[in-house]
Amino acid sequence: MSGGPATSRYVKIVPILPFYRIYFDDGAYFDYDGDPARTREQISRLAPQDLEGYERFHRDAKAIFDRGFLQLGYTHFGDVGSMLRVVPELLRLDAVRSLFSFTSKYFQSDKLRQVFSFEPLLVGGNPTSVPAIYAMIHFVEKTWGIHFAMGGTGALMQAMVRKYQELGGTIRYNSEVRKINVTAPDGRPAGRLGRRVARGVSLADGTTLEADLVVSNGDYAKTHLDLIDPGVRLIQSDTRVKLMRQSMSVVVIYFGFRADGLALDLRHHNIILGPRYEDLLGDIFNRKILSPDFSQYLHLPSLTDPSMAPTGHHAAYTLIPVPNNASGIDWTKEGDALVDRVLAMLDERGYIPGLRQRLVHKSFVTPDYFDTTLNSYLGNAFGPEPVLTQSAFFRPHNRSEDIERLYAVGAGAQPGGGTPSVMMSAKMTARLIAEDLHLN
Ligand SMILES: Cc1cc2nc3c(=O)[nH]c(=O)nc-3n(C[C@H](O)[C@H](O)[C@H](O)COP(=O)(O)OP(=O)(O)OC[C@H]3O[C@@H](n4cnc5c(N)ncnc54)[C@H](O)[C@@H]3O)c2cc1C
Repeated sequence: MSGGPATSRYVKIVPILPFYRIYFDDGAYFDYDGDPARTREQISRLAPQDLEGYERFHRDAKAIFDRGFLQLGYTHFGDVGSMLRVVPELLRLDAVRSLFSFTSKYFQSDKLRQVFSFEPLLVGGNPTSVPAIYAMIHFVEKTWGIHFAMGGTGALMQAMVRKYQELGGTIRYNSEVRKINVTAPDGRPAGRLGRRVARGVSLADGTTLEADLVVSNGDYAKTHLDLIDPGVRLIQSDTRVKLMRQSMSVVVIYFGFRADGLALDLRHHNIILGPRYEDLLGDIFNRKILSPDFSQYLHLPSLTDPSMAPTGHHAAYTLIPVPNNASGIDWTKEGDALVDRVLAMLDERGYIPGLRQRLVHKSFVTPDYFDTTLNSYLGNAFGPEPVLTQSAFFRPHNRSEDIERLYAVGAGAQPGGGTPSVMMSAKMTARLIAEDLHLN
């Protein structure tokens, strides 16, 4: 879906301005909307000494966007050669150092270092370890804007279902895949050696579906470790999958509250940063501990689309980055306590005054939901963590290297997580299939 006239037959997509309001712990904020003049105004207000640094950042991030996104965005890095060809240029653009260290070259202000580096968190990446190639997000947003599907993500899904059905596709709901069936090319049982071909899937209810090819949109590690018979898996692939760093997880609190005629000093997208930045990221991604402080992304869609909540109410969710389940945190104990702390903070710090009295609905999910209900390895929320050693050629390939006619798509495959990327991933996988089936 392009967002153009053809898309509007299926779903109404509207631009959101500002893109984000970023609140700092001292109450100051930065409204980011991609317009260079307004961005300069915001920088002058917070840290005028960094105006010149912003100009340099803008120029260098654009160069990364031009090469890394416009030219290479749809490249499937299937062999080492494809990767080696771009390495010299990435080095020249300084795009392989960490994004946080990249932004720190241009900005002296801690606040601006956070504003221009937090974005990878939206796709599960740690700003202090994702490569600076992610500076391109700044330009992706500036170029195309930030949008909302009226009716929410569910409306986007329904639109895609309709389009898919019009194209002749059928969808089988509530059908958990338990196994991807693999045989030798002649249909006899396959082993670890020799050619192996995906033949279809077996479902939890015992049904076997035969297929010309299999594309897995499920979590990459779980697809490999749980759905493919160990007898046909390569040991080196098992090791690689188990050693992969999985992205962070999230606690998401969905809540509704009475508007009570009070205006909110919030925007559709609010990033509310806690008192610590780099240390908190270290707790989440490296030390994997639940910190007493937190940052959050507060989403208020009813400001844009009042139909998201009953009349006189707001619908919201807030997303708190937390370690994935390699942490050993017992979410059955910690979940409620964290939710209470977050809602109390939104109330007491005046983001939503009186929230706890105005609350009419509250529910939440923790990493356990991602782990068990969504089948994500270690409860990761965004697939393998986007670090340099798990990007491009080093990220799982969309065409299996081990098993013929088996493909991956979505956040676990190339190019990575986030709705725009998984749509790109779908195109990349479709092209590989067309190539393999000689459909071009
Ligand atoms: C709280 C939250 C908010 C987000 N907000 C945004 C946003 O505003 N904008 C944005 O661009 N991105 C956002 N993202 C990221 C984005 O949602 C994901 O990157 C994207 O949905 C990944 O798409 P996917 O198709 O790879 O996987 P998913 O959307 O996770 O779909 C995979 C599906 O496979 C199913 N599955 C797994 N195993 C099996 C099995 N064995 N059998 C059958 N089915 C199986 C799962 O149940 C799941 O439904 C958000 C993510 C989270 C967690």
